Amino acid sequence: MDTIVIVGGGAGGLELATRLGNSAGKAGRARVVLVDRWPTHFWKPLLHTVASGKHDPQVMAIDYAAQAAEHGFEFARGEVLGVDRDARRISLAPWIADDGAEVLPARSLGYDKLVLALGSVTNYFGVPGAERHVLTLDDVAQAETFRQRFVAGCIQASARQAAGAQDPGIDIVIVGGGATGVELAAELSHSARTLAKYNVHALDPVRHVRIRILERGSLLLPHLHPRLSKRAARHLRALGIKVLTDTAVARVDAGAVVDTEGCTYPSAITLWAAGVEAPPLCATLGLSTNRLRQIAVAPSLQALEDPDVYAIGDCANFVCPILGKVPPRAQAAHQQALYLAQALGQVSPPAAPFAYRDYGSLVSLGPLAAVGVLTRSSGQKYAVGGAVARLLYALLYRKHQMALHGVLRMSAQTVADWIRDKLMPSVRLH
Ligand SMILES: Cc1cc2nc3c(=O)[nH]c(=O)nc-3n(C[C@H](O)[C@H](O)[C@H](O)COP(=O)(O)OP(=O)(O)OC[C@H]3O[C@@H](n4cnc5c(N)ncnc54)[C@H](O)[C@@H]3O)c2cc1C
Repeated sequence: MDTIVIVGGGAGGLELATRLGNSAGKAGRARVVLVDRWPTHFWKPLLHTVASGKHDPQVMAIDYAAQAAEHGFEFARGEVLGVDRDARRISLAPWIADDGAEVLPARSLGYDKLVLALGSVTNYFGVPGAERHVLTLDDVAQAETFRQRFVAGCIQASARQAAGAQDPGIDIVIVGGGATGVELAAELSHSARTLAKYNVHALDPVRHVRIRILERGSLLLPHLHPRLSKRAARHLRALGIKVLTDTAVARVDAGAVVDTEGCTYPSAITLWAAGVEAPPLCATLGLSTNRLRQIAVAPSLQALEDPDVYAIGDCANFVCPILGKVPPRAQAAHQQALYLAQALGQVSPPAAPFAYRDYGSLVSLGPLAAVGVLTRSSGQKYAVGGAVARLLYALLYRKHQMALHGVLRMSAQTVADWIRDKLMPSVRLH
């Protein structure tokens, strides 16, 4: 019986482990092992809502061990440090508990097939000071740190205002006007208002919670039609968010961001959302990678140099013959997980190569609006906006839940979330 090891339990890896466990794992055709450095899964496209306090990651996270027990795979917690492709073993770092005690020593795990679903990390593009002074949305811990600083910053500014400060308020700079930056800015604006409503701070949420987006290009959301980009910018400006396009960051200091024209933007919290690249581990495997360290894969999603190693999601570089390079998006990770679940889990694997299909792109503009494009099966694209787009955006997460839990449990969770939303404040207050 083959051992299939999947490293990374994110959007692609957890879905693949679940599907493979349900098919090959439960039927005894393969031993499926999922490895992740964290004990729980949180769907990355919602990380900006953790940063804004809208969602509590403790409530929404999925326990890998529970998912494994229900779906016929094993879970091994640990950070993968390296892969010995000749011996077909991965090495795991020691597992250290929060109090510093060693739970498990460094160890290794053998595989017959290895799937790398490592996701991505922030790309700082070598901008001086960025890595040192900014926060990112790479994982729940970073998003939670952002949230805590945001709430604390509002409370401190409010106290300064009460003490008679001349210019009370808090400055937040988001570097990067792509989907992550835009979605976070819109949610933060909503959070600032909600925190004021509950008297967590006494600031004017528009005048005193100053949110700026700095975007190097001439438009926000460059992957969308310019008309939609302008619509998103108008929406953000109406919320009081300052959108500065054609503004490239030259340097980040403690408490300020400086652009290439020499303008300085004060910033109590700087969030870097300017781009991603594959984790450094990808460049250590002796496999072909591109300049973003993404592993080059064939249409079978196998690494070019090693048929026993596969890569999916943000860490993979697959160039689709029709649509070109597959973007680092959850829908790509999902489609690749589906394909590999067939290829590795079925008695008769698919002969057809992986083909990416672009279903479109939706960007949330806060609790009530979104903007984006949907793609028909003919390839024709059409724009969507407002509440309809926001509903479709919300359905993306439900689709992910359905892939992991089935329709019944997804429906039950939707009802539970709806009740919780009705009973609790719409953002976390402390
Ligand atoms: C704020 C935000 C909003 C987004 N919105 C959208 C959207 O609307 N639509 C969309 O399609 N995409 C969106 N994305 C992008 C999307 O989240 C990613 O493309 C998607 O999560 C990639 O899935 P993945 O499985 O490749 O990696 P991930 O989901 O990032 O999972 C990677 C996993 O690997 C684990 N891991 C990494 N390295 C190691 C290691 N060495 N050892 C052990 N475990 C490891 C990590 O802990 C993690 O669990 C958004 C991203 C962000 C940050």
